[in-house]
Amino acid sequence: PQQIWFQQGLLSKEEVRISPDDRGYYFGDGIYEVFRVYHGRLFEADAHFDRLERTAAALRIPLPLPREAMTAKLRELIAANELQTGTVYMQITRGEAPRSHPFPADAAPVLFASASEYGRPLASMQQGISAVTAEDIRWLRCDLKTLNLLPNVLAKQEALDRGADEVILHRSGTVTECSASNVMIVRDGAVCTHPANHLILHGITRLVVLRLARELGIPVIEEPFTIDMLREADEAFITGTTVEVTPIVRIDDAPVAQGIPGPVTRRLQAAFELLIGL
Ligand code: PMP
Repeated sequence: PQQIWFQQGLLSKEEVRISPDDRGYYFGDGIYEVFRVYHGRLFEADAHFDRLERTAAALRIPLPLPREAMTAKLRELIAANELQTGTVYMQITRGEAPRSHPFPADAAPVLFASASEYGRPLASMQQGISAVTAEDIRWLRCDLKTLNLLPNVLAKQEALDRGADEVILHRSGTVTECSASNVMIVRDGAVCTHPANHLILHGITRLVVLRLARELGIPVIEEPFTIDMLREADEAFITGTTVEVTPIVRIDDAPVAQGIPGPVTRRLQAAFELLIGL
């Protein structure tokens, strides 16, 4: 049976008991991280912990353990589940208390982490995916990785209902990101993506891919771009822990350039694959 890290130790999934008073249910009052596991090892763990600690500090949710102890526990979890290629989901809520908005005086954070098999999305990375555009109706702290994902869920479902794979969000015509990934375009040989400010999640894959681009001598422009620039892009792709570097080949029923993954996207995919050693 699947082993879960819950509070102090590893339990089988059936043994985990979460209170209806958990503030995660009442208010979405919690934070999370999704780590990638390749070869049974955590990928870019420190970058994920940097982001988790930043989010926790901003929401004033105390982390139950220092990062070294959490990392050790995650390694135990991965080993206990014999995970080779997959993801680790970790969630920490403010704790349990009868429903009331103010921070409870004595609540202790509730943590769980689960490890799941999740293969690399080889077909979509090879062929590319389709996307639709939609207004970004989220709050102004999209840089925090909180449990409040309803706008992302609705936007993703709208994309699927419209027959597309993903949604590209924009604020009044300025492209921000996707429902669970960052978005980049290639324009005159340069990779362009929204700056890492309060309007997007600072993706770890975004960070890695921009670093790889610079190493390859590909110019990187971290500036906002418009929906019109997106439609006229030479290439477009998304980045994310689960999707890696996935080309976008159609947007709102029109092909991106020739409608096939472009050469810069391919170079970045190859560099990423080399990095993860697969
Ligand atoms: N943006 C959003 C809204 C996300 O939920 C995610 C992934 N969880 C990303 C971007 C990509 O971040 P990462 O590369 O760290 O997975």
